[in-house]
Amino acid sequence: MQTATAIIAAGGSGLRMGTSTPKQFSELLGVPILIHTIRAFRQVPAIGAIIVVVPAEYRESTSALLARYQLADYCKVISGGRLRQDSVRIGLTQVADDCPLVAVHDGARPLITPKDIQRCLDAATTHGAAIMAVPVKDTLKTVAEGTTIRHTVERQGLWQAQTPQVFRTDLLKEAFVRADQDGFVGTDEASLLEHGGWPVMVAEGSDTNLKITRPDDLRMAEALLMKKPTLPEMRIGHGFDAHRLVAGGPLILGGLEITHELGLLGHSDADVLTHALCDAILGACGEGDIGRHFPDSDPLYKGISSIKLLAQVIALAATKQLHLHNADITVVAERPKLAPHFPAMQTILAEICQVDPASINLKASTTEKMGYTGREEGISAHAVVLLTLKN
Ligand code: MG
Repeated sequence: MQTATAIIAAGGSGLRMGTSTPKQFSELLGVPILIHTIRAFRQVPAIGAIIVVVPAEYRESTSALLARYQLADYCKVISGGRLRQDSVRIGLTQVADDCPLVAVHDGARPLITPKDIQRCLDAATTHGAAIMAVPVKDTLKTVAEGTTIRHTVERQGLWQAQTPQVFRTDLLKEAFVRADQDGFVGTDEASLLEHGGWPVMVAEGSDTNLKITRPDDLRMAEALLMKKPTLPEMRIGHGFDAHRLVAGGPLILGGLEITHELGLLGHSDADVLTHALCDAILGACGEGDIGRHFPDSDPLYKGISSIKLLAQVIALAATKQLHLHNADITVVAERPKLAPHFPAMQTILAEICQVDPASINLKASTTEKMGYTGREEGISAHAVVLLTLKN
């Protein structure tokens, strides 16, 4: 359920990074910091919209950047103001009143995890306002005159505020109105609610939720990211199909016509191997089965090449950013010998699936004359696939 809009505050100038562009555009393991940040929010199903607030002069280039990383559809890029408070106020004008929650996050905190975002959303759903924070661990000193300690600050009850900071939309809007009336400027959104007397809860976060401010932070963030497993999001799918063997019809397997005295019977070309593969891919996409997409009651699919159906299935997966990583397919047939035909089938299937032929593994098995495949009444096929999410 989509219950929140995220405002990513990326208006900083990044002077402390010593770079010519703002820090949120610096690269972390080859990907801009802002992209890492947005990807984390994109993975939270409750986040329905993302508003990215950048300096006016970076609005166009940010839109182009998001398009390059296929995130443009989920984000609205707007120009911010002079102060962070101004930028978030402008962002807030884009949030619909009926959106229950607003999550404000620093564009330069790219290591936030979807799990922590969700925890903060949950706390705000319960309490109206919640921010991610960590208890202070170090002893804190007040230092005067450059390097002389004046006194030690009592650490008990001290927390470091981070983002996300999540609020009921009506509360945050009201807090902004109150702050503007009073001329109050805060360094985060929670302080505006505190100023107005509204309670704000803390949700304990992680020290790894770094704010990239100096070059050292960037190096630390890279080290932390490299420790994370970098496996892409994966989906597994399984498919099974069987078709009857009859005299006279063509035998088409993996898009290849094979000379044999028996052929497969079906509404389409009855390519049982390709059907199992289609079903496995649809399964991995959470899209039901081949019968749902290409009903055998539809004359459109009468005699159709199953390779065309496979192309449509691959295109459907691509709309979900899912791409075939590899497939392992077993065909169960007493006869004919299939292994000699596998290289040609692999070439056909790999081209449609846009993968290397080595990613399509084909195997043949018999049932040693047992059952319907053993009696040559039919041929069946099993397929297992792995799809990966590529943004
Ligand atoms: Mg079939």
